[in-house]
Amino acid sequence: MQRMDPQALSLLQSVFGYASFRGQQQDIVEHLGEGGDALVLMPTGGGKSLCYQIPALLRQGTGIVVSPLIALMQDQVDALREAGVSAAYLNSSLSGDAQREVERQLLAGELNLLYVAPERLLTGRFLAQLERTEVALFAIDEAHCVSQWGHDFRPEYRELAILHQRFPEVPRIALTATADPRTREEIVERLALQRARQFVASFDRPNIGYRVGLRHNAKRQLGEFLLGHQDESGIVYCLSRRKVDDTAAWLAESGIEALPYHAGLDAATRARNQQRFLREDGVVMVATVAFGMGIDKPDVRFVVHLDLPRSIEGYYQETGRAGRDGLPAEAWMIYGLSDVVTMSQMIAQSESADERKRVERQKLESLLAYAETTGCRRERLLGAFGERYAAPCGYCDNCIAPPKTWDATVPAQKALSAVYRTGQRFGSGHVIDVLRGQETDRVLSLDHHRVSTFGIGAEMDEKQWRSVFRQLLAAGLLEADAEGYGTLRLTAASRAVLRGDSSVELREDARPERASRRRDSQLITGGSLGIEAYEQPMWDELRALRTRLARQHGVPPYVVFHDATLLAMLRALPSNEEEMASISGVGEAKLKRYGRDFLAVINAPA
Ligand code: ADP
Ligand code: ZN
Repeated sequence: MQRMDPQALSLLQSVFGYASFRGQQQDIVEHLGEGGDALVLMPTGGGKSLCYQIPALLRQGTGIVVSPLIALMQDQVDALREAGVSAAYLNSSLSGDAQREVERQLLAGELNLLYVAPERLLTGRFLAQLERTEVALFAIDEAHCVSQWGHDFRPEYRELAILHQRFPEVPRIALTATADPRTREEIVERLALQRARQFVASFDRPNIGYRVGLRHNAKRQLGEFLLGHQDESGIVYCLSRRKVDDTAAWLAESGIEALPYHAGLDAATRARNQQRFLREDGVVMVATVAFGMGIDKPDVRFVVHLDLPRSIEGYYQETGRAGRDGLPAEAWMIYGLSDVVTMSQMIAQSESADERKRVERQKLESLLAYAETTGCRRERLLGAFGERYAAPCGYCDNCIAPPKTWDATVPAQKALSAVYRTGQRFGSGHVIDVLRGQETDRVLSLDHHRVSTFGIGAEMDEKQWRSVFRQLLAAGLLEADAEGYGTLRLTAASRAVLRGDSSVELREDARPERASRRRDSQLITGGSLGIEAYEQPMWDELRALRTRLARQHGVPPYVVFHDATLLAMLRALPSNEEEMASISGVGEAKLKRYGRDFLAVINAPA
């Protein structure tokens, strides 16, 4: 055991209700407590917030937290207040009076923590106010926003280096869930954190199960998937707005609480849907990637992708929104040949030597490799960020049911030569017709029934050929044109296969229906949380009470108690305040506020 600051631990227990620090939290808290700077790279759900909240409480003065996300600020502040911490935020959503009141509290030294938007922090007025205040520390959340390479670039973030110049004595902590080493370097440079100690956690999310399948009938597959996730909150990502609307409407008709979210909806509808997702239990959000940044909801039990996302980072970030509370969650994706063609086109378009494009290309390629892998998905996913993971994880589809592979050298040669013989000017549909000897109008009018490859692949059906083409594209043995017509061409790597110098091993695409049923039953019993039938009535009562209390207090249910805490109550069934206090997540303030109500429900005579 390491030396432990008794004060830090007692704050963790009394304010936040947790028994012990997690991972590197303790080292980070101590380092900041002693006045050091830190750069923290930890995955979503890793517990970054406590890394600055506890030092802010330990040190004299107010902890200033820079956050780019207005919606998130309010949530964090609500949660802190529920735990009895004096916290506030300053951003454009507050009225003039409310802003002045927060400023007064700041100057009077009444705040432990103050969340501010970067543009506000950087105003001359606010910096001058800070000079008249005691600042405990600066926490720069979502620090990857300084990076121009990422999707969340915020120009104001680059100005934050000024904090170091104006307040050289105040410790700074920058935090991000972006794993990319390039981004890390940029954060260090842009925020002048060369002297900061770096804390890099593993980016593995052990409570997320990964599963990838082929899309054949998206709606039916989604419907089956949701059967295993009844009454759970989740996000379903689609690529287009139309598909979002369509899918959400279809789910709603099927009796599922589903709401759409995309940039084409008006602001009021977006805000309302987001609010319902946050404040109600069991809402499914069907969305484009416009949704999610700043969604801090801890009990998202599943994230679905109905299309291939745009990059492996995007996939990691989006799936990372599941299971922040550490309870079991599932990431499920389905895709098809058309996604792979689109992806291959994007790769072709980025063919230039330019460094940035090369990076983009690698990202696309690693996503395809992830989707098509026959090995452990977790190993692939973490490998894409330079982290070595010792497979098998035992909690991805490929580990649970290793896929079969077959020697597809001969069919691959047939496919490649059919592409070549027809002039490398057609998409997979037409080439498959030629291979299978289909005398379609198009085949006849182009005289393709006379090419030497006509009918040489009649032994396989269309579906099997599509699987071969998809995998040849993903493996870089074929490429799609950059212009977007979906026509296929050979690549440098194709020659070796055609000459017989290299063989091709492909994954046997199991019949999708059977595969998904079998895997569902292995990954999920009793929903994600494994609630047994006899526990269900009490679970429902606990959730109902939580919803009622959340409404009364005007906060989301998870601000009252997380699922993990509710689950601990369900399993321990505390009978008095003392037992209740020992439940993880029940701190002193919450015990006082809610303890009695929950004890009453748990101990009500049957
Ligand atoms: P991040 O910001 O890294 O995504 P959070 O700070 O939101 O993660 O923490 C994720 C979840 O883990 C929250 O529900 C939080 O209350 C919980 N948590 C954090 N630290 C601990 C701990 N030491 N013990 C138990 N739960 C913790
Ligand atoms: Zn695995």
